[in-house]
Amino acid sequence: MNTNESPLAEWGILKNTKRPVVIAGPCSAETADQVLETARGLKAIGIEVFRAGIWKPRTRPNSFEGVGSEGLEWLKLVKSEVGMLTATEVANVKHVYEALRAGVDILWIGARTSANPFAMQEVADALKGVDIPVFVKNPVNPDVELWVGAVERVLGAGLKKVGVIHRGFSSFEKTRFRNVPQWQLPIEFRRRMPGIPMICDPSHISGCTELLQEVSQKALDLNFDGLIIESHRNPAEAWSDAKQQVTPAELDKLLKSLVLRDVEVSQSLKETLDDLRLKIDKYDDDLLKTLDARMKIAEQIGQYKKEHNITILQPTRWDEIISKIVAKGAEHNLSAEFLSTVFKAIHQESINKQNKIMNGE
Ligand code: PEP
Ligand code: MN
Repeated sequence: MNTNESPLAEWGILKNTKRPVVIAGPCSAETADQVLETARGLKAIGIEVFRAGIWKPRTRPNSFEGVGSEGLEWLKLVKSEVGMLTATEVANVKHVYEALRAGVDILWIGARTSANPFAMQEVADALKGVDIPVFVKNPVNPDVELWVGAVERVLGAGLKKVGVIHRGFSSFEKTRFRNVPQWQLPIEFRRRMPGIPMICDPSHISGCTELLQEVSQKALDLNFDGLIIESHRNPAEAWSDAKQQVTPAELDKLLKSLVLRDVEVSQSLKETLDDLRLKIDKYDDDLLKTLDARMKIAEQIGQYKKEHNITILQPTRWDEIISKIVAKGAEHNLSAEFLSTVFKAIHQESINKQNKIMNGE
């Protein structure tokens, strides 16, 4: 098998079986014209699978919630007149039955649905006996267990062609992403369920067009099998997610700019990599030893505070530590964001240890 052959190839529905498989289309189906013109534009750049939301779960009421069943007729035209496979989101039993009746080729379950085990189970039950591919988006909250559970429900319903879509995670803090990618979560998902094909949704991670290229490339570098990207004939006029959609021509440019690196590396490359990885392992060991030694000191301090009846948390001391570290870190090319995350975690663990000591556990 070619190293860049996609595991989706085994599902036997695609002509192009190489990584990355690309699914593209508007956030929402809006009109027959918009659907067909966008689909033709995508077909012309070699896209095989057309996506469009028919039922849209929206964060706030009174925004456009999808055209509903009528849009399924337009997806039928995308199949018969444009010759593409079609994909849409299903969130309940009615959606599943209607989409299947309309002959939609691929279904996905959205992030708000995969976060809800009751809804997931209902959709999974409705899918019993179905043989088409189903993708499960990660839940909105960064919980790998919940994501694995959602996939298990679909597998439990007997489906064989099951994949996942990484679309990033909600966060309270404002970041440059609409949904923070937290790449360690899809990586952990793959470790937990290695046989499940994984697609990245750079559109909902980015929330704008400027980050699409960077996020897509990162996904390919992490061996994702494909990309699902929102594309609209006229993004500025889109009824939902206008800021993150690209025209088919822009999508073409973006896809051509992506570099596909080999999944399997040659022997000499492997030896060099193994050598570097050994060095990393050694530093990881050193880090562990240093952390252990640091925690032991923290425990001694805890003991001392207990004997002298001093509170654990002394915020001024901690502020001093963080600013000193951040200043030193800059000399070593380590970002303030990184250092404060690491040191906050270390501090938290010290507090936990001291707490145990103070409470005589
Ligand atoms: C979508 O794909 O248009 C969508 C609603 O995505 P998510 O479920 O990831 O928010
Ligand atoms: Mn969208």
